[in-house]
Amino acid sequence: MTSLVEIYRRFPTREAAIAHLEHVRWPDGPICPACGADTVARKSEPNQADRLQCWSCERSFSATVGTIFHNSHIDLQRWYLLIALMLSAKKGLSAIQAARDLDMRRPTVWSMMHRIRAALADDGKLLAGIVEMDEAYVGGKPRRTNRKDDNDPKPRGRATSKTPIVGAVERGGRVKAKVADKSEMTGADMEAIARAMIQMRDSTLTTDEYSGYNAFNNFVAHRRVNHSTAYVEYDLFGSIHTNTIESFWAILKRAIFGQFHHVSRKYLTLYLREIVYRYNMRRGGCDLDGVLHLAIKP
Ligand SMILES: [Zn+2]
Repeated sequence: MTSLVEIYRRFPTREAAIAHLEHVRWPDGPICPACGADTVARKSEPNQADRLQCWSCERSFSATVGTIFHNSHIDLQRWYLLIALMLSAKKGLSAIQAARDLDMRRPTVWSMMHRIRAALADDGKLLAGIVEMDEAYVGGKPRRTNRKDDNDPKPRGRATSKTPIVGAVERGGRVKAKVADKSEMTGADMEAIARAMIQMRDSTLTTDEYSGYNAFNNFVAHRRVNHSTAYVEYDLFGSIHTNTIESFWAILKRAIFGQFHHVSRKYLTLYLREIVYRYNMRRGGCDLDGVLHLAIKP
């Protein structure tokens, strides 16, 4: 469910939106978040329809407690609409555009979007199969284009002050990516990152010829692609290339440069979560309830 019309239809009122969150959070009936009791009743006072009362510890609560929606003065319908907008924006959604679409203030939408991104955590399942691993560089200083004395070729990629992002993707499957530090790109660092992302025993890993991957054949079936040759090589597992991760980087860079201008390192991890989530859900499962399940995790 990612269409705005569908969300309007299913949640015509604030109460309907809260009832849905209750259902997603407690499919077998409400549980008190404070004491775990299921002796919970709905408050009967007017304007308290979303408040639940625990008869065991006598606390009252609502389904938003402990979720990303907790203490938000924005009603859940708008949260749902914003989630739907973010999920369906293949090239990323700017806070300015979302603020226009939802008729809200940009700073409010901006912080809501960050709360949603924070909820889109990695599922912890390691990648396996034919996996490609690579790094991309984003951010950093703007390129100087009009300097007369600047005849040197501009440093690119590993030689710049940009922030590295290390990613791995199953061919035809899921991606994982993390913001790394420029000083954390040694062979040992790359191995640690790879082990946190990939199930080594069941995988064949393709990388380029970056020296950080030099020792990889000690712990994983490792193939390297030489970008200086124009042809694609083949072996028992098929063609040796990193085209899958390259196309993920293209999506990432389009989202970062096109929508999220001036991304600071601080927020890069959050944007990355959103982009990874959308990529991994691209063949279905990309819906409101999927995000709600992540949003209610304490
Ligand atoms: Zn209780």
